Amino acid sequence: MGGTFDPIHHGHLVAAEEARWQFRLDQVLFIPTGRPWQKPVGVSPAEDRYLMTVIATAPNPAFAVSRMEVDNPGPTYTVDTLRRLRAELPEDTRLLFIGGADVVQQLLTWKEPEQVLALTELIAVTRPEFDLDGLVQQIPGAAGRVHRMEIPALAISGRDVRARVARGAPIGYLVPEDVARYIEKRGLYR
Ligand code: ATP
Ligand code: MG
Repeated sequence: MGGTFDPIHHGHLVAAEEARWQFRLDQVLFIPTGRPWQKPVGVSPAEDRYLMTVIATAPNPAFAVSRMEVDNPGPTYTVDTLRRLRAELPEDTRLLFIGGADVVQQLLTWKEPEQVLALTELIAVTRPEFDLDGLVQQIPGAAGRVHRMEIPALAISGRDVRARVARGAPIGYLVPEDVARYIEKRGLYR
């Protein structure tokens, strides 16, 4: 599961845990982005986002965090990360990319979707205002490789959490308690 994780919130964690269970995954690997090309300005330092992701996922034995994009200077593309992962994993490993409907839509419209689908299956987590069905029908071979997954924690977003911190609204229960503390300690989003 890739993302800026600025900050990681319960939407991410619920999606990851539901995917682990529905798809019987051995591990969910969280990969915070280095410097995302879609959001070049105003993104918190990679190290802060990496640490918040570690703090939030540490208690779950099936969750792990990768530094592969954080340690990579310059923009990283999801397809390149998937290629690297594929090369590192044993050949018979089933690889599934967990993404919100917004990100899956982007992956399937950007450059060669057939290549992405050859590298990985996709778990598309439903998010408000995104409808993937039309898109999936247009791409040959996508039907069996893109799995829709619904989760209950739909409306939480990093953008909303940041806006809340900026205006002094509470973020308790939207993010893990220790992540909220870390945000306060580092003075993020003020
Ligand atoms: P921002 O508002 O800054 O874009 P975000 O909440 O979308 O933050 P990201 O780090 O951009 O979080 O997203 C990481 C991945 O998690 C993406 O694939 C995104 O679609 C997905 N995601 C984020 N929030 C949710 C949610 N509430 N439900 C389902 N998927 C989510
Ligand atoms: Mg996002």
